[in-house]
Amino acid sequence: MLELRPDCERCGADLPADQAGAQICSFECTFCSACASGALAGICPNCGGDLQARPLRVGAALVRFPAGVERKHGR
Ligand SMILES: [Zn+2]
Ligand SMILES: [Zn+2]
Repeated sequence: MLELRPDCERCGADLPADQAGAQICSFECTFCSACASGALAGICPNCGGDLQARPLRVGAALVRFPAGVERKHGR
């Protein structure tokens, strides 16, 4: 199950699990779409893999399986 990290690792922007705009690599390094399509050019700076749109988790599923809360920005 995806961890659904709450922020962009690069700029710290909030990335709610139920809203589009988050991009992840296969290791779940997580970035906002502005960073992913801009400075990062679609490539994860940590592992070199490609960044893809993160699936949404919505409604009852999000309540039952909450998104991650550990922020990665600045680590
Ligand atoms: Zn960002
Ligand atoms: Zn990565």
